[in-house]
Amino acid sequence: MFDVIIIGSGPAGLTAAVYASRACLDTLLLEKQPMGGGQILNTADVDNYPGLPGIDGFSLGQKFADHADRLGIQPVTEEVTQIDCQGKVKRVVTAQQTYEAKTLVYAVGCGYRQLGVPGEEQFLGKGVSYCATCDGAFFRGKTVAVIGGGDVALEDALFLAKICSKVFLIHRRDTFRGAKVLADRVWTTENIELILNTTVEDIFGGETVREIGIVNKKTAEKRRLVLDGVFVAVGSIPHSDFLQGQVETDDAGYIVAGENCRTSVEGVYAAGDIRTKALRQVVTAAADGANAIADIEKYLVRNAE
Ligand code: NAP
Repeated sequence: MFDVIIIGSGPAGLTAAVYASRACLDTLLLEKQPMGGGQILNTADVDNYPGLPGIDGFSLGQKFADHADRLGIQPVTEEVTQIDCQGKVKRVVTAQQTYEAKTLVYAVGCGYRQLGVPGEEQFLGKGVSYCATCDGAFFRGKTVAVIGGGDVALEDALFLAKICSKVFLIHRRDTFRGAKVLADRVWTTENIELILNTTVEDIFGGETVREIGIVNKKTAEKRRLVLDGVFVAVGSIPHSDFLQGQVETDDAGYIVAGENCRTSVEGVYAAGDIRTKALRQVVTAAADGANAIADIEKYLVRNAE
């Protein structure tokens, strides 16, 4: 019986692991990917994590993992298939075995939201990508489009502009959800062309992507853009499936939890992007990991036999 099982090894899960180790909790860290670090591994530049200006996402993810490792916590690579968290003992089932713990930190983050247009699935891996830092190199010297107006879309456009000859940034509104500092850089980057108030209607090609259909929402004007790749960056969807119906979630599927990361079920904590919060950043994910373990320490004392 573990004191705590942490599921997910992004910044929230790995920070929880660091704090759990320092609190001398008997801890299991589960991660389905062989390499921990979370979504941040796919981020080119993390410009706003305090104390580490200019660090890239991969290196920052590695630093989190190394820190947990130095404190004796290494992720166990097993994919969770089921969670039963209603009773006092929390059970986590993986393909290999069933684990039991007194508490659970659910820190699995989010996945990519799809555009949902014809051709998107057909050309996945053949010109359609959800990860510019993973796939950008395949489009060296080519023309691509980035879809979206959040931090990820802006960062992707800037990253791809260094590799590709031309980047269209297509956003459905004329103001950006992402940080102004990024938007300002996008506006002034020569090989990025902004196409605003515009959505994508379809993705078309042969073996690989050749063109997309776009429509201006204000004028209803339709155009086709010839290009080689489409990077979809239209936000994320929470990976809350295993806890759906067991803990309270909001309409979008995020697990309802406050700053102490307590969910609606005693002993179950949601940390990082998966929980309801105003700001989804590495620094707030890391804060969640710390807060969750601080609360768990009190919970374990209260519930000691
Ligand atoms: P996001 O902030 O939710 O932005 C998603 C963007 O996609 C929005 O501009 C949205 O348009 C657009 N969109 C959504 N559905 C669409 C659709 N069906 N068709 C066309 N456009 C669509 O998501 P994100 O950029 O992935 O960022 C996720 C979170 O991570 C955010 O909280 C972000 O701040 C954080 N993040 C932070 C950093 C950093 O600090 N360095 C880096 C990356 C991400 P509307 O604006 O019109 O809704």
